[in-house]
Amino acid sequence: MKSDQEANPKKATVNRRGMFRILGAGAAATVAAVPAAKASVAPDQVRVAPQNAAAMLYDTTLCIGCKACVSACNETNNLPADPGFSKHINNIYNAPPSLNSSTKNIIKLYKNADNTEWSFVKQQCMHCVDPSCVQACPLSSLTKGAHGIVAWNGNQCIGCRCCQLACPFNIPKFEWTAVNPKIVKCEMCKHRLDVGLQPACTEACPRGAVVYGTREQLLAEARKRVAANPGKYFDNRVYGEKEGGGTQVLYLSHVPFTKIGLPELDSEANAAKVRTNTEHIYQGGITPLVIYGALLGVTRHFFKEHVKEAEEEKAKTGLKEQL
Ligand code: SF4
Ligand code: SF4
Ligand code: SF4
Repeated sequence: MKSDQEANPKKATVNRRGMFRILGAGAAATVAAVPAAKASVAPDQVRVAPQNAAAMLYDTTLCIGCKACVSACNETNNLPADPGFSKHINNIYNAPPSLNSSTKNIIKLYKNADNTEWSFVKQQCMHCVDPSCVQACPLSSLTKGAHGIVAWNGNQCIGCRCCQLACPFNIPKFEWTAVNPKIVKCEMCKHRLDVGLQPACTEACPRGAVVYGTREQLLAEARKRVAANPGKYFDNRVYGEKEGGGTQVLYLSHVPFTKIGLPELDSEANAAKVRTNTEHIYQGGITPLVIYGALLGVTRHFFKEHVKEAEEEKAKTGLKEQL
C-alpha cells in the first residue's frame, strides 16, 4: 500500500515554480466538489487501506451521550472547552454547536418529529482510505501517513480551504479568529498512538461505544455484532466498509445512516474519480481557467462563520447539539 505522498511524489515539492501543479490540484478540488464527475475509476487509481490501518468502531446502540469522549478529546489536544449554546447559563457546559476550531470530536442527537426514534452520534474525521481532503490540498498540507492517519501540516497551508470543500463529511474546520489560522480536525490522537496509547476518546468511553483497533479487526468485530443480532442494525451492514472508497472510522447504527448525518456515498472514492477525471479533462482540452474560476467561486461561497455553518448543518441533517 502506498501513502498518498508515495503515490504522488510530485505533490510533495512545492515552490513558486510549482504553480502549474498547484493550479492542477485546484482543479482537482473543484472536480471533487462537483458531483457531476461520474466516470468510473481507473483501476490504477484505486487505493486500499494500509496494513494495520488505525481504526475506530462506533456503535450507536451503546452510546449514552455522556460526552466523556468529547472532554477527553479536548484535554488530550489542549483545546479549550467551547461553551457554545450554554452561554446563557454562565458558560458551564462544554457545548459546542458543531465541530469547530476547538472541537475535534462531538456528540449530536438525532430525534424524529414525534420522538419515537432517536440516536446519539459521534462525529470526527473518518480517516478515509482515499481522502478527498488530501487529494484536494494544493500544497500537500494534508497527508495520509503512518497507519493511514490523515494529518495536517501547518507549514505549507495557505488557508485556501479546498480540503473543506472536498470533504464529503464536512469535517475540517478553520480557525476564523486566529492571525495564522489552522485547519483543525481529529488526527486519531497520533501523539498517543506513537507512545503505545489508544485514542483518548476510546479510552474515556465508559460504554465501549467507540473502540480502537486495526481496521481489519474492527470490521470483523462489526460483522460479528451484525451476524449475532439480525435486524438490530440498519441494513445489517457496517458504514465505512465501502462508502466513499472506505473509511477507517466505522459505524454501526440502529437508525438509517443518513439520519445520523452519514452521507450516502458509492463505493468509489471521490479522490480516485478526480484523478481519473482530471486526466480526461486535460485530454479533452477544456481550458483550466474555467475550472479555476469555478474553484474561486465555490471557495468564496463557503467563506462563512462556523456558527452559520453549524446552523445550516442542523437544518440539513436535523442533528442537534448536546448540552
Ligand atoms: S473525513 Fe474528510 S477530513 Fe477526514 S480524511 Fe475524509 S475527507 Fe479528509
Ligand atoms: S481520536 Fe483523538 S482527536 Fe480523534 S476524536 Fe478521538 S480523542 Fe479526538
Ligand atoms: S464517551 Fe462513549 S458513551 Fe459517552 S458520549 Fe462518547 S461515545 Fe457515547
